[in-house]
Amino acid sequence: MISALTRFAFLVCLALIAAFIALEFWGAQWAIPLGIFILSVPLVYSYINLANLRKYILNDSLESMSLPSGYWEEVFFRLQRLIKNQKQKLLTIERQHHHFIEAFQASPNGIVMLDENDQIEWCNSIAESFFGLTYKRDVMQRINFLIRRPEFIQYITKRNFDEPLLMERMGPSSSISLMLQAFPFGQKRHLLLVQNVTDLQKADAMRRDFVANVSHEMRTPITVLMGFLETVQTLDLKKEQQDQYFEMMMAQALRMKSLVEDLLTLANLESNSLPAVSKPISLPTLMALLKNDAEALSLGKHSFSFDVLSKQDVLGEEREVLSAFSNLVSNAIRYTPDVGEIHVKWNVNAEGQGEFSVTDTGPGIAAEHLSRLTERFYRVDRSRSRDTGGTGLGLAIVKHIASRHQAQLIIESTPGRGSTFMLRFPKERLTAAELKS
Ligand code: ADP
Repeated sequence: MISALTRFAFLVCLALIAAFIALEFWGAQWAIPLGIFILSVPLVYSYINLANLRKYILNDSLESMSLPSGYWEEVFFRLQRLIKNQKQKLLTIERQHHHFIEAFQASPNGIVMLDENDQIEWCNSIAESFFGLTYKRDVMQRINFLIRRPEFIQYITKRNFDEPLLMERMGPSSSISLMLQAFPFGQKRHLLLVQNVTDLQKADAMRRDFVANVSHEMRTPITVLMGFLETVQTLDLKKEQQDQYFEMMMAQALRMKSLVEDLLTLANLESNSLPAVSKPISLPTLMALLKNDAEALSLGKHSFSFDVLSKQDVLGEEREVLSAFSNLVSNAIRYTPDVGEIHVKWNVNAEGQGEFSVTDTGPGIAAEHLSRLTERFYRVDRSRSRDTGGTGLGLAIVKHIASRHQAQLIIESTPGRGSTFMLRFPKERLTAAELKS
């Protein structure tokens, strides 16, 4: 590689030789301009290339510039290569940056990046929706100016980030609970991670309510039972009186047994795998079982009809379906006063869905209770439920079984006229119509 200095020395020598030859043959008036001309050729050449380079830089088109020949070719070529490499590196960094942003956006949690002054550097769309932020508008705004909740301002200003902060009644409809925690990173920056804990909180509250309800339901029969035991122990009772007390104790023990059985049924339903869609359950057989049990429970106080109007059967878990159906039938019997009517029917509707319905002429249920009937321990008529051995868990069990079979529980009721409880099974949960003879 010839150095620039050698090139320059070579050019000067060339100019001197040419000037010397011109001096010898044509005199000094030709020698000096010739020497100057030879020296100025590379200067002009360099000036043109420099001007071109300026033009390319100004047009941001260095990559597409055409290469000159000679010394400047190498300069242009190397410059082009440098720019290409830089652009490639920039592209790789941009791509990585984009991947990170995509990953942060995909997170189900809110993410906010804060600089050393707690100004928002970046936040994902989940964080935007949690706090009502708009990234483009709020970028570089101090977060405590945007989230004005006292507990949050205290959390940010105290800088005690070892513990998470729970913020309730957040979101557009003030209905969500958020758990957030700041984590330091980089130079005095913080990453704010925000999790929606509404469902967790609800589940926790439900669990607490459930335990409280179960304890309450158990405490009553236990207290009554202990009272009877004390009476039998301390009082000198006659044989008939003793038998009466034993009978009442048995009723309380049975109440506890039913409660434990229903609790176990619910626990089993929650832990068992979903029922298969391949096991047909014979509806005529099921109906016969229901009829037997109903007549035994009613002791002739009600009039019944049991109709199987379709040849299609349900596909699922027989034990569960029978339990759901008999819960509905026994409720109808328990809540319908003597001489009432109960109609039990299996049919397939115009859309091909299977419908198991129990209609009674009982007291009916006011509209405000309907949506809550399937809650655990929810009762409209508490004393009637207890008197007839109800646990308050029957419809919760029915609803659970229904959803495990992708069925819907539909309740229609008119106070004073009666109720219809219907389980509607989707087509996929029925045997094919043409298979049956
Ligand atoms: P329970 O063991 O108390 O019967 P369920 O979960 O089976 O509990 O029913 C919840 C409540 O729904 C009952 O307490 C009762 O008030 C009401 N209910 C259920 N079935 C009927 C019905 N056929 N007629 C009137 N009320 C009913």
